[in-house]
Amino acid sequence: MSPGPVHGATKVLGVIGRPIAHSLSPLIHNLWLDQHRIPALYVAFPGSDAPAGAALFTGLFHAGIHGLNVTAPFKDAAFAASQAAGDRERDLRAVNVLVRGESGWVGHNTDSDGFLLALWEARLKHGLPQSLSGQRIVLLGAGGAARACALALRGEGADLVAVNRDSARSRDMRDRFGAETYGFADLASAVRGAGLVINSLPAAADTVFGDFPWGLTAESAMAADLGYARPESPFLAGARKAHRSEFDGLGMLIHQAALSFKLWWGIAPDIETARKAALDALERRP
Ligand code: NDP
Repeated sequence: MSPGPVHGATKVLGVIGRPIAHSLSPLIHNLWLDQHRIPALYVAFPGSDAPAGAALFTGLFHAGIHGLNVTAPFKDAAFAASQAAGDRERDLRAVNVLVRGESGWVGHNTDSDGFLLALWEARLKHGLPQSLSGQRIVLLGAGGAARACALALRGEGADLVAVNRDSARSRDMRDRFGAETYGFADLASAVRGAGLVINSLPAAADTVFGDFPWGLTAESAMAADLGYARPESPFLAGARKAHRSEFDGLGMLIHQAALSFKLWWGIAPDIETARKAALDALERRP
């Protein structure tokens, strides 16, 4: 895969985040750009330690950047620096895609739909019903990714439960998404009878709950981890050992990327070639 000849008319897009060197987005987007023979190049912008204000995004707009993906810790700043595309973005107060408008960025959030598409795909693969109506769904963590999942699941009629360290963020999950809230000390009460448990904690926080009490969840319960590093997380390994079906965050990453690509280019790209390339890259990582 190559970006093709780079010349004066080559459009430049990218992902901004810190850290960003681990990002699979350049690999995925350049693969799709190449497949569709679009004269554009997708790169990673590391940002800086300075607090991100609107000037960062205004500068990138005026430099002529064709589009941006935005990841931690810039999603809130990108929301503030763009015109929200709709109610979803206003509800989340965070955007992960910037599309050029007449005079500034239009901010979209494809994380919610990306998660839902990955969930449906995983449920189909494991022969589980697509309906989540009335299911007890537990979110571990209450950060940006958990909020994107909560927004997606609220529309599916699920009973949401949030488990978090910080009680103010938990309250926000209750007020905005109607979630029952718990601290990690009450994990057993939170997960009893759960049909789906979603881990949105960073990998370094995995030890916060020790051995996860899979025995308290429904026998048909599913585990989702929004991370996608190899080897798999202890959370997913524990779920598998307890005979729970599971999936990681790679599907969400690729589906949100495909939705971004469609917003910029009007083309729905191929999911499976991107998944294969991403898996190969993950396997090769030291
Ligand atoms: P945020 O920083 O917004 O939220 C992190 C959450 O984890 C917060 O609720 C925080 O709790 C909690 N947390 C962090 N450290 C600890 C700890 N030591 N003990 C207990 N709780 C802790 O991050 P995001 O929500 O954006 O991302 C979370 C994860 O999801 C990351 O691993 C990220 O890579 C992944 N992700 C994956 C995506 C995908 O496409 N697959 C998309 C987006 C994210 P508190 O509120 O108490 O601070």
